[in-house]
Amino acid sequence: MIFSDQYQRVVKEYSKIGEDHKQYMFDCFRNHEFPLVLWRKLGKSGLFKVAAGNDKEHALRYMAAAYEGLAYGSGDLAFCIAPICHGAMAVPILAQFAKDRKIVKKYLDQATSGASVISFAVTESSSGGTDAFRSDCRLSSYNGTKILNGKKWHITSAPHADLIMCWATDDYDSLVAVLVDPKQKGVTIGDKLPCAAARTSPVGTIEFKNVEISPDCILRFKSGKRALTDALIGERVICTFSGIGCIKQMIEKCVYFLRNRKVQGVKLERHQYMQYRITKMQYALTTLEALSHGTLNLQCAGNNVDLESSVLKPTAANTIFDCAREAGQICATYGLQEESQFYSALLDAWGAMVGGGTEEAHRMIVWNKMKKRYSGRSLNISSDNIHIWEESEDLLKEIKNAV
Ligand SMILES: Cc1cc2nc3c(=O)[nH]c(=O)nc-3n(C[C@H](O)[C@H](O)[C@H](O)COP(=O)(O)OP(=O)(O)OC[C@H]3O[C@@H](n4cnc5c(N)ncnc54)[C@H](O)[C@@H]3O)c2cc1C
Repeated sequence: MIFSDQYQRVVKEYSKIGEDHKQYMFDCFRNHEFPLVLWRKLGKSGLFKVAAGNDKEHALRYMAAAYEGLAYGSGDLAFCIAPICHGAMAVPILAQFAKDRKIVKKYLDQATSGASVISFAVTESSSGGTDAFRSDCRLSSYNGTKILNGKKWHITSAPHADLIMCWATDDYDSLVAVLVDPKQKGVTIGDKLPCAAARTSPVGTIEFKNVEISPDCILRFKSGKRALTDALIGERVICTFSGIGCIKQMIEKCVYFLRNRKVQGVKLERHQYMQYRITKMQYALTTLEALSHGTLNLQCAGNNVDLESSVLKPTAANTIFDCAREAGQICATYGLQEESQFYSALLDAWGAMVGGGTEEAHRMIVWNKMKKRYSGRSLNISSDNIHIWEESEDLLKEIKNAV
């Protein structure tokens, strides 16, 4: 595929950053540590600042290219989750409110420079992450003071976050974003969870017990659901590009292996079974690239990509998983060694099948959008077996009320 010079320049720039930090990232993976050194470097590179600007198209394309390059250069898939939650999800929301709120401007400046790490907290163990809009976390008024109560589960960067963007329901049952300093009284952050995936983007639990919230830290939207959806779409689309970078470096490793390894004096690349496996990986990559760039282009042109991004995200997770499995098969014992990074890609792809919503959750979105996209006609079969398609009041009502 041919991409613009600008896109390729950014991919190259971040591949180099990834490559320079490859060993460091590998050590972080082994030790289950957050790669703070790389985080600061990304802050300096302008990756977080770009999402605060007014040019949304430039920001989306820049982030897509950067995360593709970073995963390609470092060989690490999971780390992208933390900077994407921070930069692609939280930063644009802070930027909306920073113009007229001093405290938000301060948080935004810290976030864009890479001096801080933000957790974007939606999921709760009580209501389940699949039902992202039903927040049991409550922001209530007591004698004119706003108080936050509730618990968030499996939140990226929670153990080392400097700021939490917590999604909660207020007294009017509206979904609002609340900015919370983890050092505030009543906030408890658990240790990092021993999660098998996403070891370079550790997750943790956050509990709020009667936490006093300043009015300046409450971000209200015309529609909280829509604001949250837009942020989640940003994550869905951009994360996919890390997957592309990850698959590309797996293919390169496999091609190298096939061209160099001989069994019974014959190079493996000459075996058709092996050619089948490696071309399968290329088919998967080319298909995923087409889908990702197609969705990105639609998004950049200002279209609603609720449906497309929900098709893309599980497709990407499954594709990375399948490619990691093929790579493991191709390289056999070498593929099993941790340093090949196929093992971490496999686990991280599994994590990607859950994080940001499971396939079931995305199919629910796709189905809801399909109901809106297609007509409200229903099929009625009469007693003498005649098929009649007619507008159905019930269906039209359901379509109208679908989110
Ligand atoms: C690596 C990683 C990082 C994460 N980081 C964050 C983060 O930063 N912030 C955050 O807010 N969350 C984060 N999450 C949480 C993630 O968003 C949720 O795990 C995810 O949405 C699934 O929620 P759940 O685990 O509660 O599953 P549940 O909602 O409990 O669902 C359990 C199973 O039931 C299925 N299911 C549920 N409802 C239905 C239904 N109506 N019909 C059919 N099937 C259904 C689901 O598909 C799933 O298979 C992260 C998760 C991972 C893995």
